[in-house]
Amino acid sequence: MSKFIFVTGGVVSSLGKGIASASIGKLLETRGLKVSVLKCDPYLNVDPGTMNPYQHGEVYVTDDGAETDLDLGHYERFTNGVFSKDNNITAGKIYYSVISKERKGDYLGKTVQIIPHITDEIKAGIRKVAKNNDVDVVIVEIGGTVGDIESLPFLEAIRQLRWEMGEHYALNIHVTLLPYIKSCGEQKTKPTQHSVGTLREIGIQPDILLCRTERPILAEQREKIALFCNVDVEAVIEAADVKSIYECPSAFKKEHLDTLILKKLNIKAPDRDLKSWEDYVVKRLRRPKHEVNIAVVGKYILLPDAYKSIYEAMIHGGIANDARVNIIKIDAEDLEKGKFEKNFKDVQGILVPGGFGNRGIEGKIRAIRYAREKDIPFFGICLGMQLAAVEFARTVCGHKTANSTEFDRNTPDPVISLLEEQKQVTNLGATMRLGAYPCRIEKDTRAFTAYRKEDILERHRHRYEFNNQYREAMLSKGLVISGVNLNANLAEIIEVKGHRWFLGCQFHPEFRSKPDKAHPLFRDFIAAALGVHSG
Ligand code: GLN
Repeated sequence: MSKFIFVTGGVVSSLGKGIASASIGKLLETRGLKVSVLKCDPYLNVDPGTMNPYQHGEVYVTDDGAETDLDLGHYERFTNGVFSKDNNITAGKIYYSVISKERKGDYLGKTVQIIPHITDEIKAGIRKVAKNNDVDVVIVEIGGTVGDIESLPFLEAIRQLRWEMGEHYALNIHVTLLPYIKSCGEQKTKPTQHSVGTLREIGIQPDILLCRTERPILAEQREKIALFCNVDVEAVIEAADVKSIYECPSAFKKEHLDTLILKKLNIKAPDRDLKSWEDYVVKRLRRPKHEVNIAVVGKYILLPDAYKSIYEAMIHGGIANDARVNIIKIDAEDLEKGKFEKNFKDVQGILVPGGFGNRGIEGKIRAIRYAREKDIPFFGICLGMQLAAVEFARTVCGHKTANSTEFDRNTPDPVISLLEEQKQVTNLGATMRLGAYPCRIEKDTRAFTAYRKEDILERHRHRYEFNNQYREAMLSKGLVISGVNLNANLAEIIEVKGHRWFLGCQFHPEFRSKPDKAHPLFRDFIAAALGVHSG
């Protein structure tokens, strides 16, 4: 029977519960256990797919095509798990399901209520992950901050689950903050006491406290927190700021968090260290041999979370090349006017990420042209690939008004356009080409050099596609189509012949990159950029 770890957060948001949950997953896997990690989001959207990145950050896509919270990205990057739509439960999804059942008459005339109907639905969703995946431990992260009205049904559900399962089958970890107040030179425990007090009011007693702090916790503070929060002193875990998120598992290990969890869950597993992770990932992050500057030309560059997986995948590509990757964020709109080259001074590679809508499109196209003509390594992802095709059609093939029909519905040269089946779609939610699709790689291409195999699977999230009517004309001018979806004959990867490294892919490789196993395209893109000497 699977055991459960419930992770809640207190005092403030953005404490890194997602990274903490992912790191716990990593530690338990290191001890030989099979884990799954699940996120409960208290908002009413059914999924984050329709939310603006400024509201929510990146939308992470799973193999089975679910549009999920970006924390699932952390879970997959830190653990060996491949997660699915079931690993992200939102209040919207829960209510949608309960209300649909009510309409069908499934509740047999009963009054439908938050307790028990909503809470039962949440519990069923959490138990399903354990059942379907046959895992030793399910880590359940509850989004939001304790004290929020919206997370109450989720907290009640985990309270009940813990009660139903009994001792040694479930435990609660509360991530909290110990603010350091400069004027008195002290680390304050009161917000943590209040937060734990709020949890206790609703019947949850945390077993372990993960205390986020800028400075080490003094022994007497640990004792004070333990006494007032009703936990063991050894269960007050220091979660000090670290340079890189990939150092978190080691930091927790130093505090014996894994041993403590196993003890509380009554699981026997041999102790193992994190040596291979530390030697490869942490060491190269701290003391890389090389350094490279990569420009990311995007629309949401002010928000670090908007391109989370891309930034992480670039760091992984850096690790694989023993290089620090400095990311230069460029607002695509700024490239539409004025002097443009200065933005790319000291840049050795240019990446154009995915995106939707008109804003900044022409700036991105200018950046792509610059990369192509100046022989600067270029990586275009999804929209970035589509715009690379548009730029090539305009500049090289002479179709001056070429465009994607997303931006100019009536363009005479729709190099990127909708497939027939997408034209019929009216709903926005979950209607794109989503999830993992197979792709056949052409030999003797950059893509083949990277993957070293012919058949790959990659995750998609888009509506528009390369228009095959332009295929021959563009190939005759030096475009290479190096990856194709054979079932639907769709161009999935394009390259430019003779260029140092110019590759665009219709899918999102960033969702399959890990710190200790960089995605081959990110690895080779960074390698190509490292070969460029800045001028
Ligand atoms: N807007 C484009 C499409 O829908 C690209 C999407 C993306 O970059 N994820 O096809």
